[in-house]
Amino acid sequence: MTTIASNLQAVRDAIDAAAVKAGRFASEVKLLAVSKTFSADALREAYHAGQTCFAESYVQEALNKIAALQDLTIEWHYIGPIQSNKARAIVENFSWVHSVDRLKIAERLSEQRPTHLPPLQVCLQVNISMETSKSGVSPDEVSALAHAIAKLPGLTLRGLMAVPAPSDDGAAQRLPFMQLRKLLDQLNQQGLQLDTLSMGMSHDFAAAIAEGSTIVRIGTAIFGNRNYGEKK
Ligand SMILES: *Cc1c(COP(=O)(O)O)cnc(C)c1O
Repeated sequence: MTTIASNLQAVRDAIDAAAVKAGRFASEVKLLAVSKTFSADALREAYHAGQTCFAESYVQEALNKIAALQDLTIEWHYIGPIQSNKARAIVENFSWVHSVDRLKIAERLSEQRPTHLPPLQVCLQVNISMETSKSGVSPDEVSALAHAIAKLPGLTLRGLMAVPAPSDDGAAQRLPFMQLRKLLDQLNQQGLQLDTLSMGMSHDFAAAIAEGSTIVRIGTAIFGNRNYGEKK
């Protein structure tokens, strides 16, 4: 087995174990391979090891890989910052966007989604740890934004996404994930029908799964450490 294939297997095993421990089915948790900074060849290797969902954070870098991997059936997810002049490239090339945090951007994505494609699947990014440096809508603004976005025809609002402040302590890791789950529950009580909690990365996905994560976004544990200097 290649390193990527064996890393993927280890991640899948750890997801299974975390799900069992939480009394959940591993099939309820979708594994997104976060491939930013890694080459198209690395993605191809992961694909041949059974991985079909990939996430990218930079539009131009992603477009290069999408073009290079046209022969594969990949579901592409966008998880990076959204500049309005990149909205068209995003809606033409991705199935999902996890990082929507403003109505203006959501409206633009909806308007520009090509009509021959199904609606763009979106999550609202929530600034759950309330760090000023992080993107995401603040928890008290989630409800108004979610209800507005749910009305846009080119989008299907699926749920919430968060990148909490890093912590090494399992119990501390669970707190922001629990808060995100409660926010999702509130939205559903208000009549929305949301089924997605996009939460958990390489260092904290077990805690996220314990709190109900349905999509984990994992890069380092699959591909190794990122080297931003050699970004492709
Ligand atoms: C890079 C990134 C990830 C993956 O992080 P790892 O720690 O490498 O697993 C997940 N989510 C977002 C939003 C990212 O930018």
